[in-house]
Amino acid sequence: MATLQIHQFPCLSDNYGVLIHDAERGVTAAIDAPNAEQVRAALKEKGWKLTYVLTTHHHGDHTDGNLELKAETGCVIIGPRAEANKIPGIDTEVGEGDAFRLGSFQVHVLDTPGHTLGHISYWIPAASVAFVGDTIFAMGCGRVIEGTMEMMWGSLAKLAKLPPATRLYCGHEYTISNAKFALAIEPGNAALVKRADEVAKLRAEDKPTLPTRLDIELETNPFLRVTSAEIRKNLKLEAAQDWQVFAEVRERKNRA
Ligand code: ZN
Ligand code: FE
Repeated sequence: MATLQIHQFPCLSDNYGVLIHDAERGVTAAIDAPNAEQVRAALKEKGWKLTYVLTTHHHGDHTDGNLELKAETGCVIIGPRAEANKIPGIDTEVGEGDAFRLGSFQVHVLDTPGHTLGHISYWIPAASVAFVGDTIFAMGCGRVIEGTMEMMWGSLAKLAKLPPATRLYCGHEYTISNAKFALAIEPGNAALVKRADEVAKLRAEDKPTLPTRLDIELETNPFLRVTSAEIRKNLKLEAAQDWQVFAEVRERKNRA
């Protein structure tokens, strides 16, 4: 079976760039292009030639490299249909239910709106990996900028149903701040206490805390843990609907 090589690298102040590569087919995709120069340097380091950019959403810290990389490499830019007019250089528009081949791999598109209205995630089941942009972070989630709280909750709930061993690649390294906040609202979560300790050590050595894995997020991410009795009790939302608990957690994080 073909292997999908994945190379993650820091970009800008706290973004991650990701390259995925199918050596057998000579296919390389960048997941978002925060910055042309840094993506170019990563390609050079790996000796890979860019063939695709997979865009998750229109924000500049995910798309600013698109046009330059396209001009240099002739790569095809795939991105969200629902905000295609805001994706520089977009060639192929995709949305929920679409799937396309990337070398030997089938990529499935999930609509994950909320952070932006058209935000999408890319799931590659055969490689047990999903690229979730600014929807989920380690112990966190994206700010709900364009969509509604209910919409964002729907996106998180959708990702939460992927196979638990799915590795999640996220757009930003916000883990330390997320862990601190998560501990404040669910201090009795032993898995969270342990993980907060682990990520603090990684960051102290300047190592990435990502990718994460869905089962780890289900145990430690307060934005996914809306059924936790401890969180509901702390928020005085014992009888609320799941999305309402999510909304309160998100609002508290905004103020934190
Ligand atoms: Zn964003
Ligand atoms: Fe971002």
